[in-house]
Amino acid sequence: MAKYDYLIIGAGLFGATIAQQLTKKGFKVLVIDQRPHLGGNCYTEAKDGINIHKYGAHIFHTSNDQVWQYVNQFARFNHYVNRPKVHYQNKIYSFPINLMTLYQLWNVTTPEQAQKKLDTVKIPNPNPQNLEEWILSQVGREIYEIFIKGYTTKQWDRDPKELPSFIIKRLPIRLTFDDNYFNDCYQGIPIGGYTSMIQKMLEGIELKLNTDFFSDRKNLTSQAKHMVFTGKIDKYFNYCHQELEYRSLRFETEKLSIPDFQGNAVINYTDAAVPYTRIIEHKHFEFLTTDHTYVTHEYPDTWTTKKIPYYPVNNDANTQIYQKYQTLAQKEKNVFFGGRLAEYKYYDMDDTIEAAFNLLKRLP
Ligand code: UDP
Repeated sequence: MAKYDYLIIGAGLFGATIAQQLTKKGFKVLVIDQRPHLGGNCYTEAKDGINIHKYGAHIFHTSNDQVWQYVNQFARFNHYVNRPKVHYQNKIYSFPINLMTLYQLWNVTTPEQAQKKLDTVKIPNPNPQNLEEWILSQVGREIYEIFIKGYTTKQWDRDPKELPSFIIKRLPIRLTFDDNYFNDCYQGIPIGGYTSMIQKMLEGIELKLNTDFFSDRKNLTSQAKHMVFTGKIDKYFNYCHQELEYRSLRFETEKLSIPDFQGNAVINYTDAAVPYTRIIEHKHFEFLTTDHTYVTHEYPDTWTTKKIPYYPVNNDANTQIYQKYQTLAQKEKNVFFGGRLAEYKYYDMDDTIEAAFNLLKRLP
């Protein structure tokens, strides 16, 4: 007899949502994770009174009322709004592209002047085939060179001509002074950190950390009637259809004995010659007034199976490979797949929770 109704592989946001909801319905659940901590890439580590976003900046934002109400059961959210700046050749620019950015570039002071100038620099293209063609058709070459080309090439290690435009369509381009990075209704950082929020989600649920599913697959599988797998789908199927490709990241974090390093949580370095893409100053996510600070330089990194997969590379070749795994996944009995790694999708946190809600409707 199986000891658990469900084995959830992965204690990130997807796994935690599934585990919390199933437990609430009365199922007996075991959650395992290969890492020594819960929370997946949302994990925050408290250091000297500052919550460090260990796996990169995580800013919660959503327009989904159900998702917002859901996360608010486990944390209070502060009023953080993401307003990153861009650093390029020793100048700071307002970002995402908005009227202040265009004023800084071109001295235009009204939406009408900005629109006129943009119309003269855009490179019209009725059918843009890639990221570069799309952005040139929206804002022209100067803006592309300053804000997009270097950053995107570093981030993806590919020419923007070889990338799909959806990657960048998530960034707003506005002719107002609104510099909010997101268009969503709700935004903030959980007070106390993401780790504490996910701990609350998993309260009273059996959790085994440092437990690698693949090292004890047979035994773990036999312990539950059903499984929800949130890890890499290609690994689950022993890479039988080739490996899926990812981009990885490397973080260098240091403590500084000064109260403020850069005056903002996120500054993007868009210059191709600067090896990192952003500097994160964690205390600004929480409006702290400590006399010390922690900063993290974020470097894009080539992915290998030993590194953490951050971003799926959703080009045609990988999409075709993923579809083969998806076909196999649909044939699995009593195993359900979900989350960024199992669905090979560039999910934000709210998308992840929404996807978990959708899977819950299908679970027996
Ligand atoms: N991007 C850019 N310049 C920037 C910020 C973003 O060219 O200063 C592009 C880049 O290609 C990136 C994409 O926009 O991969 C999406 O950016 P976002 O900030 O949403 O990426 P994430 O936070 O998910 O890494």
